[in-house]
Amino acid sequence: MTKGYLGIDIGSISTKGVVIDRDNNILAKEYLWTEGDPMGAVKRLLKALEIQLRGQDVQVVSVGTTGSARKLIGVMTGASVVKNEITAHAIGTTTVHPDVRTIFEIGGQDSKIVIIENGFVTDYAMNTLCAAGTGSFLSSQAHRLGVSVEDFGEIALTSKKPTNIAARCTVFAESDLVHKAQIGHKKEDIIAGLCKAVVTNYLNNIGKGKKILPPIVFQGGVSKNVGVKKAFEDAVGHEVIVDENGHLMGAFGVAVLARRSGREKQFSFDTADIAFRTRGFECGKCANHCEIICVYRENELIDAWGNKCENGAVRTAR
Ligand code: SF4
Repeated sequence: MTKGYLGIDIGSISTKGVVIDRDNNILAKEYLWTEGDPMGAVKRLLKALEIQLRGQDVQVVSVGTTGSARKLIGVMTGASVVKNEITAHAIGTTTVHPDVRTIFEIGGQDSKIVIIENGFVTDYAMNTLCAAGTGSFLSSQAHRLGVSVEDFGEIALTSKKPTNIAARCTVFAESDLVHKAQIGHKKEDIIAGLCKAVVTNYLNNIGKGKKILPPIVFQGGVSKNVGVKKAFEDAVGHEVIVDENGHLMGAFGVAVLARRSGREKQFSFDTADIAFRTRGFECGKCANHCEIICVYRENELIDAWGNKCENGAVRTAR
């Protein structure tokens, strides 16, 4: 029997999962849309991973979670490790590229930059406010131009003269794009211009003041867009590495952390069938009005968080 380590990265747009063995080989992997229902997405994810593992004689013995719903999913799966995205991505990336110095990450709704020195994170920044540099922005603009987002990057590479698109925010970019299309700019030039705009926005916001040194690894869903990869290379003057599994790096990193934790207990994929539900309420004990989230397993309160102080703490069954 092979011991397996499961990593789950649950974000607002996508949910990723990998199962690795003790040598960090990926035994199963899945990427699907969260569709506003993190618990439902994880149940679908676990089913898909279980099917991939059939016939491989693998027993998952430790689980790690990361991403915006990591705590909730950590409770749901009995995770031994619950870590933020920066740590998960850094661990995943340094496991595959021990000499990496810079990680660019652009996901569905947020983007990050992580600076690494000798395998340790020395600086980072995240942007969750401006959508202009994210995957959801590119998808909506692809749709607007009647192009599938999967073809976006290849089309961008055919451009000889990328159109200049105002990249400061989605509203500016959208109206500028419509204007440029109306005055006759070629579709491939507008698409290449959009890829460039995403990169300019990224480097001027979260990349501002950061020491961007090679080797540079580019991750997240948008890393699959060869147009954005090329726009990064043109902007920073270095090769930008994109891994086949780069979009799964958060899940991979937290699986590595679960393995390293040494905390092992048999994990059952039937967790996917257990009924979990959440309830949110506002703590009214002070002006902060913290949003408290309670998680129930078959009517038993098993975890709660969101309180900024002990006065708003909710007593749980464990
Ligand atoms: S949890 Fe603490 S800080 Fe938050 S609203 Fe309640 S009393 Fe205020």
